[in-house]
Amino acid sequence: MEDLRRQVAACSRMLVDAGILAYSGHISARIDADHFLIQTFDDVRAELDPNRLLVVDLDGKVVEGEGEPPFEVYVHSEILRARPEVGAVTHFHHDPTTTFTMVDGAKILPVKNHASRWANGIPTHPDPTHIRTVEQGKALAQTLSDKHAALMRAHGQVVVAEDVLNLFSDVIHLVENSTVLIQAMQMGRVMPLTDDEIDLFNQTFDRQKVAQKVWKYYMAIGKTKGIIPSDWL
Ligand SMILES: [Zn+2]
Repeated sequence: MEDLRRQVAACSRMLVDAGILAYSGHISARIDADHFLIQTFDDVRAELDPNRLLVVDLDGKVVEGEGEPPFEVYVHSEILRARPEVGAVTHFHHDPTTTFTMVDGAKILPVKNHASRWANGIPTHPDPTHIRTVEQGKALAQTLSDKHAALMRAHGQVVVAEDVLNLFSDVIHLVENSTVLIQAMQMGRVMPLTDDEIDLFNQTFDRQKVAQKVWKYYMAIGKTKGIIPSDWL
């Protein structure tokens, strides 16, 4: 559990440094079938303390720790309830990625090879407000369905993965893809990866190894910058 707490805190600190989390947005990590770790609503994401993370149940109630969970805790509780195989969830507000919910017909196409993760689609949730109720959380989980990410109209995005390391790597790749896609759209007709190209990539791609490599890189940079304590693995 100590390791999991540090993973959540490190993930948060590194996503702030990457310009993906800011004064809001959060990461959750499943502890067991009914509980998960999540930060308080106002602890600073850039310096998240592992020991201050809350243990919250699937009803969004704090069972351990001091402080209130984020207003949008139901993003996490209802996705974790609906998707037992998901071990980590993040919700953030990366504006360039959110622009795809603001333009008629815009769609996040897989243009970078790592975007093969989202070959089965990235749905857009129509509710532009904050997810402040159980019902809204359930509706978001329904939009997400069996996908690995969803956009939230005029608001942000949610990404899910099997664990915190893969979640971090997925978020970096999702944002890279939307960033280069926006650039490509300005140059001309976009040529997304074909199904055959995605299959080819997936055949040679080791998801766990890549996640560990991405994590190792950002942790090293984080330590150099003083964002991550030197004794965190
Ligand atoms: Zn939000």
